Amino acid sequence: MSTIQDFQTERATWCPGCGDFGVLNAMQKAAVNLGLEPEQVVIVSGIGCSGKMSQHFGGYGLHSLHGRSLPTAQAVKLANRSLTVLAAGGDGDGYGIGMGHFIHAIRRNVDITYVVMDNHIYGLTTGQASPTSDVGSRTKTSPHGSVEEPIVPLQLALAQNCGFVAQGFSGNIKQLTSLIERAILHRGFSLVNVFSPCVTFNKVQTYEFYKRHLVNLDDDPDYNPNDRITALHRVAKAQNIVTGLIYEDPERASFDQTVYGYPDTPIAANNWVLSREDTAEI
Ligand code: SF4
Ligand code: MG
Repeated sequence: MSTIQDFQTERATWCPGCGDFGVLNAMQKAAVNLGLEPEQVVIVSGIGCSGKMSQHFGGYGLHSLHGRSLPTAQAVKLANRSLTVLAAGGDGDGYGIGMGHFIHAIRRNVDITYVVMDNHIYGLTTGQASPTSDVGSRTKTSPHGSVEEPIVPLQLALAQNCGFVAQGFSGNIKQLTSLIERAILHRGFSLVNVFSPCVTFNKVQTYEFYKRHLVNLDDDPDYNPNDRITALHRVAKAQNIVTGLIYEDPERASFDQTVYGYPDTPIAANNWVLSREDTAEI
C-alpha cells in the first residue's frame, strides 16, 4: 500500500501560501486513497507555476510545452492504457495558448484527468491578466482594469458536453481530494478546475474571498449533477463561484471504449498494439 510519502519529492518551490500546495496535497491523497502506486501514475504539465506539478508529484512526470499538456497526456494514455494519466496546468497555460487542445480533448474523450490551477493571473511571469481575469482586474498588462470578458471553464466544458466537470478550492482539501478521486475513476476526459489563489500577484481572488463567496453544490441535496442544462444554469446563476461535482455523464463512452470496443475488459489486459495489417493500411 502506498503512502503520501511515496508521492512526495523535493520541497516545492512555490511561494509560501500558494494555492498550488493544496492541489498537490489533494492529488497525493487521491492517489493514495485509490490504492495507486507511484509507478502507475503519470503527471504531464505545461508551463507556468502549475507546471512544477510534474516535478513535485512523486509519480512519473513529464514537463511538456506551454499549453501542450493535453495532447501529450492523451498520447501517454493511448501508448499505455494501464497508466493513470493526469494533466496539470494553469488558467494561462490551459485556457490561453492551450485552449484549442482543451476543447478537442473534450471532444476526443480520452480517459485522462485535467487539473487546472485557476488563479486568474499569470503568476510565473509576475502578474499579467490571464484568460480568466475578471473585467476590471488591475494587473501589469491591464493597469486601468481588464476590458476583456473572462473565459468560464465550467460553462465551456458543459457546452461541449464534457463527461465530467468539477470545481474545487485549494482551501478545501477534503472536497478537492474527493473530486480528483471521482475524476480519475470517471472513464473519459475529466475536468477539475481549481480556485488556487496566487498569494503574490492576485490580491482580489484570495482565500478569504472564496471562503466568503463560494457555494458548495456538494452540500445541496436538491442539486442533480447528472442534468447538464441545470448545471449550466446553476453555474451562471452563481457567477461561477461554485465548487463540487458540477456534472457527470457516466454513460458517455470514452475514446478507447468507442475505438477499441472492450468496455468491460480490465484496462491492463487491453493495451492496443498495431498489427502488421493495421500498419500496412496506414
Ligand atoms: Fe503561486 Fe503566485 Fe507564487 Fe506562482 S507566483 S508560486 S501562482 S503564489
Ligand atoms: Mg494562472
